[in-house]
Amino acid sequence: MSDQATTPRNALVTGAGQGIGKSIALRLAADGLDVAINDIPANGEAARAVAAEVESLGRRATVALADVSDAQAVDGMVAQVAADLGSLDVMVANAGIAHVKPLLEVTPEEFDHLMSINLRGVHLCYGAAARRMIEQGGGGKIIGACSIVGYRPFPLLGPYSASKWAVRGLTQAAAMEWAQYGITVNAYCPGIVGTAMWDHIDEKLAENEGLRKGAAIEKYSELIHLGRVSVPEDVAKFVSYLASPDSDYMTGQSVMIDGGVQFS
Ligand code: NAD
Repeated sequence: MSDQATTPRNALVTGAGQGIGKSIALRLAADGLDVAINDIPANGEAARAVAAEVESLGRRATVALADVSDAQAVDGMVAQVAADLGSLDVMVANAGIAHVKPLLEVTPEEFDHLMSINLRGVHLCYGAAARRMIEQGGGGKIIGACSIVGYRPFPLLGPYSASKWAVRGLTQAAAMEWAQYGITVNAYCPGIVGTAMWDHIDEKLAENEGLRKGAAIEKYSELIHLGRVSVPEDVAKFVSYLASPDSDYMTGQSVMIDGGVQFS
């Protein structure tokens, strides 16, 4: 593997209009990186607000709206970001969705839709970023969103859990293939983070289990040894490390950052 030639300067974070992605974008800006904010066009206003926050931290920002499941849109997004910021050094493939349903009720269409974002989207973002980084010649950092359910599924989150297991496999394969270019590929595995995604999971689990709203997250939170639900900043701190030269000797890993729910 060649040495990482440069300190990363420019990052792209997908699904960064809210939640964990937003927190990662702001943390990378605080670390001194310029940041491109991706989200779906329907969430464009939120993405622009995050870009303004990045600029208020004294960094450059650009907004690159695209659906990560659309190959052409992802290629266009990466080209735009490299043109706007000058290079792409860090790709955070964060965008993802969750469905909560018994496996026996999941339709083929729902399964494909979830995989198109959580797996195909990560595959497309990893590949477009790697092609760009190889062309630039200076190595890079590729980082993906896995989950604790990438190690041990939650019931009623079957396809979601399978998509995160697949992200773990993809991350390992990409790390093997792209080490020769000085590109490291790692993933973060959050546990139970208080975002819109967990609001949705909580609501659906409560419906399925006949519980009141809020009860499901309380029940699952009992699994957290550190005794509190995660906040997006817990994850962003670890992604900050993965995006920095301090992690140059680490690749192919999917690391739990979950307050001690699941152990690898
Ligand atoms: P969130 O729902 O709050 O935010 C996800 C963002 O992704 C939204 O802004 C959404 O508009 C965007 N998005 C959705 N589909 C997209 C697409 N096709 N293209 C581009 N953007 C798209 O979710 P979050 O909790 O911030 O989760 C972020 C990532 O972390 C996801 O991959 C999720 O699976 C993972 N994760 C979350 C938790 C948790 O507890 N919240 C735990 C483990 C893993």
